[in-house]
Amino acid sequence: FERLKAGLKKTTDGLVGRIDALVLGKKEIDADTLEELEEILITSDIGVKTTVELIRSLEQRLSRNELKDGAALRGALKDELLARLLAHHTPLRLEGTAPFTILVVGVNGVGKTTTIGKLAAKYAAEGRKVLLAAGDTFRAAAAEQLEIWGDRAGVSVIRHQEGADPSAVAFDACKAAVSRGTEILIIDTAGRLHTKVNLMEEMKKIHRVIGREIPGAPHETLLVLDGATGQNALSQARLFKESAGVTGIALTKLDGTAKGGIVVAVSHEFGLPVRFIGVGEGIDDLREFEPNEFVDALFQ
Ligand code: GDP
Repeated sequence: FERLKAGLKKTTDGLVGRIDALVLGKKEIDADTLEELEEILITSDIGVKTTVELIRSLEQRLSRNELKDGAALRGALKDELLARLLAHHTPLRLEGTAPFTILVVGVNGVGKTTTIGKLAAKYAAEGRKVLLAAGDTFRAAAAEQLEIWGDRAGVSVIRHQEGADPSAVAFDACKAAVSRGTEILIIDTAGRLHTKVNLMEEMKKIHRVIGREIPGAPHETLLVLDGATGQNALSQARLFKESAGVTGIALTKLDGTAKGGIVVAVSHEFGLPVRFIGVGEGIDDLREFEPNEFVDALFQ
């Protein structure tokens, strides 16, 4: 928890610091206070839709005389944020299917390779049999990075030559996973900037190949987003949700940004569960997302 708190410090100082400067010590809450709060929330990447909803709920509480002072407003906001995070929260459950197949998507630079590496290390440390597939065949560096993470975690990586067909890598990886008794197969994909049409085509093909080899796979299509990119992350979420059948989100680099409010925007605006958050570059800095813990760390 201390590590999470440290990782979210910039958001705590930025977002919650500004909220505290507004509300703490206030003996009375009025419509102006809520208007100022709205301004803070909108500029902190919580998202317009979510902010409008939050403020509406707080207005109702105000009219019911529930917001007597600044401390009550702070507490109410924390509750409202938590309720919205919990509404979409489902942790990733790996039980019941093997090989549980995770297809990882996202644009270059968001932390996709690092996230896969951290996941592989985490699952391997739990004693599970993991296999990685270097499906980003457009960047030799991506496959090399993945192998470095694989070595570190004691996990094998299925890799083809640069420029090979990503679906062929996925196909080989599925075959290998089945024959080796792998429990968790994690497949990387190319992170080029996509148009909607070519992303859809690429995803359809890879889904078809994987689904033919492993019934029901991919069991999770995990979109990796860079939490520090604010509105860009939201437009990527929209594109990939519509084109790639995304079922969960990993939000990285929250340690480097005061825009941690993006966690709320992504899950609430798209109805997608945030499965993991990245709060540092270390192997232990990918955490399973847990709304209670997250909100507590922010509003300590
Ligand atoms: P990819 O192009 O999407 O595969 O991105 P990489 O995995 O290579 O990551 C790009 C950079 O982001 C690397 O320097 C990573 O160490 C860094 N990175 C990834 N996740 C996090 C995180 O949660 N926090 C921080 N501070 N850096 C991260």
